[in-house]
Amino acid sequence: MKRMFTCIICPNGCDIEAEIDGQKILSLTGHLCAKGVDYVTQELTDPRRTIASSVKVTGGTLPLTSVRVTNSIPKDMIFHVMNEINKRTLEAPVSIGQVVIANVLNLNSDVIVTKNVPAIRD
Ligand code: SF4
Repeated sequence: MKRMFTCIICPNGCDIEAEIDGQKILSLTGHLCAKGVDYVTQELTDPRRTIASSVKVTGGTLPLTSVRVTNSIPKDMIFHVMNEINKRTLEAPVSIGQVVIANVLNLNSDVIVTKNVPAIRD
């Protein structure tokens, strides 16, 4: 069967047409480099994504901070990781790189802060 992919490894965003049989690639067209082959292979065997979200902050100059995962996670775990992130609240001050959840759901990825939020001064 034919299946279309858009490679997200670089800004070229190649549209790749793959002829596949299950997880086996029979032919590929549209990729400008070999990384496109790796991308389609990964998508067929173990699709992964990085995710970014936000977490509530108390006592800070902003009510939220942004967060992201440090390593891509299996696509079918995104909902579960988002659930874990949504349970969290941080107390200001919050610093970039601060770990919000270490090794979230044992996926070999931490959730870390990507925006500083200073504490409100009285
Ligand atoms: S196939 Fe290569 S050039 Fe095309 S988007 Fe993927 S990494 Fe970039």
